[in-house]
Amino acid sequence: MSRVYNFSAGPSTLPEAVLAQAQQEMLEWHDSGMSVMEMSHRGKHFAIIAEELESDLRSLMAIPANYKVLFLQGGASGQFSFIPQNLLNGKTKACYIKTGAWSEKAISDAKNYCDVVLTASSEAEKYTHVPDVAGWVIDTDAAYLHYTSNETIHGVEFSDVPDSKGLPLVSDMSSNILSRPIDVSQYGLIYAGTQKNMGPSGVTIVIVRDDLIGHAPKTTPAVFNYAEQAKNQSMLNTPATYNWYLVGLVLKWLQGQGGVAAMEQRNIAKAAKLYQAIDQSALYRNPVATPYRSRMNVPFILADENLDKAFISAAEANGLYELKGHRSVGGMRASIYNAMPEAGVDALIAFMAEFERTH
Ligand SMILES: *Cc1c(COP(=O)(O)O)cnc(C)c1O
Repeated sequence: MSRVYNFSAGPSTLPEAVLAQAQQEMLEWHDSGMSVMEMSHRGKHFAIIAEELESDLRSLMAIPANYKVLFLQGGASGQFSFIPQNLLNGKTKACYIKTGAWSEKAISDAKNYCDVVLTASSEAEKYTHVPDVAGWVIDTDAAYLHYTSNETIHGVEFSDVPDSKGLPLVSDMSSNILSRPIDVSQYGLIYAGTQKNMGPSGVTIVIVRDDLIGHAPKTTPAVFNYAEQAKNQSMLNTPATYNWYLVGLVLKWLQGQGGVAAMEQRNIAKAAKLYQAIDQSALYRNPVATPYRSRMNVPFILADENLDKAFISAAEANGLYELKGHRSVGGMRASIYNAMPEAGVDALIAFMAEFERTH
């Protein structure tokens, strides 16, 4: 077996200990006589997995009791439509901050349901920063303010929680959830696909303040109606049972690593090293303004794009995979989520220096 360092943006690398445990429990989970994949989602064994999943997430994120935690399908992209359907509550407007490709998509889908007030945009600067708060437009008649806390493609991350002037704050945390401690009580709704920093694809986490739900119009599909799913413990229909189990294993691994605060310290150290290596080199460049550089997704462009192909194939020869940047940005991107060990970042930095020396 030769596992590589996998810098994919998502689905992304998983802790090896989690994969090994899943392998060990593949044929029989505890004393159930069957694989998790084969269990009824209504049975007593799966009930344990589901309860621990929710309680572990609640404790890792210190989620207050007045928030519902939902485990849905449809991806974070599905939420781009389900959020306006569930949260507009008779209002006709919602505020959005546009800082990259993912907030662009969220805005585009929201426009099918309401008028989008563009609170701020960094599109003219090619999404290389978060616009200064002084210029933000917040319409207090809007139903909520939406932002993407980490732009996975452009590598732009908010370092502070935006001031929403009293509007419920909605955040797409797909690519930085559990990478740093947050105060959930500052949010109306947090959502994330699991395949970046929480497990495999197939589960979408929605954490929502309970007073915001229960106002969706009848046209909202029941399985994407937060109040209906909350009433049914996210089991209005058959959930992605095996994926719940795997996310649960990742959460237990994270607890074993010291939780989110300990993980943040490691993430700071990993990102700082990599940005320092990029900034000190003559070959690599990161276009994002320093205060907004993502700790999770680090894009970098080679001074000569004719070297891109050689870089990628040499990287693979060194066991460093999935470094090709998103087609809309070009260059390279290293995603260094919780599960990427510091040794993987060190190996990447050493390879980059060697490639620069020989090119
Ligand atoms: C990956 C990603 C999405 C889309 O997730 P899907 O599960 O593929 O729908 C949305 N937002 C952000 C920030 C992402 O990184």
